[in-house]
Amino acid sequence: MKVIVVGAGVLGASVTYQLAKRGVDVTLLDKGIPGEGASAASFAWLNSNAKELRPYHQLSVISIAEWALVARELGSSSWLHRDGHLQVAATAVQAERLLARAELLESSGYAAIPVAPREIPRLDPVIRVRDDYQLGVFFPGEGHITVPLLIHELLAAATGYGATVRHSSKVNELLSDAESINGVILEGGERIESDVVVVSAGAGIGGLLETQGVSVRTEGTPGVTVTTSPGTSKLTTVLHVPGLSVRPDTSGRVVVRSSDIDAEINRRNWTLPEPAVRKLFAQLGEGVTDVDPAAVRAERIQIAHRPYSFDGLPVVGFWDGRPGLYVTTAPTGVTLGAVTGRLAAEEITTGKVPKLLKGLQPSRVFEAAAVEVACVGTSSTTSG
Ligand SMILES: Cc1cc2nc3c(=O)[nH]c(=O)nc-3n(C[C@H](O)[C@H](O)[C@H](O)COP(=O)(O)OP(=O)(O)OC[C@H]3O[C@@H](n4cnc5c(N)ncnc54)[C@H](O)[C@@H]3O)c2cc1C
Repeated sequence: MKVIVVGAGVLGASVTYQLAKRGVDVTLLDKGIPGEGASAASFAWLNSNAKELRPYHQLSVISIAEWALVARELGSSSWLHRDGHLQVAATAVQAERLLARAELLESSGYAAIPVAPREIPRLDPVIRVRDDYQLGVFFPGEGHITVPLLIHELLAAATGYGATVRHSSKVNELLSDAESINGVILEGGERIESDVVVVSAGAGIGGLLETQGVSVRTEGTPGVTVTTSPGTSKLTTVLHVPGLSVRPDTSGRVVVRSSDIDAEINRRNWTLPEPAVRKLFAQLGEGVTDVDPAAVRAERIQIAHRPYSFDGLPVVGFWDGRPGLYVTTAPTGVTLGAVTGRLAAEEITTGKVPKLLKGLQPSRVFEAAAVEVACVGTSSTTSG
């Protein structure tokens, strides 16, 4: 069996690794350099903290655990960090909601441990405890991934199993005959044939499906993460305090973001204005004690569209509308990458839909998109 995977983000890299491990002849194509899409801009927090829909929660919990198995298989775990996550509430209402979520999660076996503000320094002495903090909850099973390192390790292992990885190889079109998808056409005209094409192109999935007459939105809102220079902080855990998300990165760097800073992305030139960066660093200084906001430097500012699916759930599976076409995308693809790669490879090689993927197939999204397009078409005709 010959398989082409389009897109070398965390999902495409994981699917490629799992297929290659099973002896499949797999070629991975990326229009740029592997890992430069949403995966590069990701906050990369491993969690199933607020995923209320049961199948999504289950998949996430399994995937977080499964990354440890992938680390074992790769013989490298320097990209995997299970140092937990602390979330802090600063008003009585936030504290009530946080506690309710912690109780709900604990009732499903997901560790979520309330922490009094005065106890926070025992978890991590660099976390600043502000007077308005009401409650913390620590999630010991969560953590984060150093995504570029993970993608590098997955692709090295995949090529070791015989996979071909090609960068600067943009897929312009999916090849199809009357019955099925049977390959791709690259920018420049090269045609590569295959039995299955896995489209893991993140926000770029919509553009590729257009070539099959399907109009579906796969590009979500833009988000930004800022990585600081080495030696910024000794923070050891993922931390969410009101107005700030921060986590450790390699060599004392930290990765910082906040949703109000996302709103300041300049969408014309795809940059984050300097005042927004300084504002984020001021927020960082309020969150941790060992950072001097005036001295912090931004080493990388990464902006990307989040992957979008209309119901907020992952999309993983063969599309029955076009045999031979398999799609993988997820709003929290870093968390879900391990389980998605394994289950996709299982389905592609056995033809059987894994139980955990039932209900996540692309047809639900594509059919809803078709209805949406038809409705928009009808209403615009009616309104003249
Ligand atoms: C700001 C931000 C914060 C996030 N935080 C988290 C988080 O904390 N935890 C979490 O789990 N998830 C998080 N996410 C989501 C997560 O990063 C994504 O779900 C995940 O990275 C998607 O991976 P992917 O492989 O599907 O897509 P991508 O990483 O986007 O990879 C797609 C690849 O396809 C390639 N491509 C596109 N079109 C073509 C084409 N025509 N031909 C060839 N190649 C093509 C691109 O070059 C790219 O390399 C966040 C995302 C953002 C933007």
